[in-house]
Amino acid sequence: MKNDCQICRKHPIMYKDYRFLDNCGLQGKVLVCQWCRDLNDVAISDIMRDELDPEDFYIQEIHDEIKKHNR
Ligand SMILES: [Zn+2]
Repeated sequence: MKNDCQICRKHPIMYKDYRFLDNCGLQGKVLVCQWCRDLNDVAISDIMRDELDPEDFYIQEIHDEIKKHNR
């Protein structure tokens, strides 16, 4: 879908981020969801390659905090 995060394609776009990951085809500006924004480049690569859900990269405590914050 058009309004989905360009990294995971699972969550709506919330932020503009900048990534430079040659192996993922990222060369600057990328529109990302709240989950992908704070992940490191290694996690981003894994998500794009294996179509993982970025929510799974957060430990439960942080996960709950983010959900609460965005409710
Ligand atoms: Zn995402």
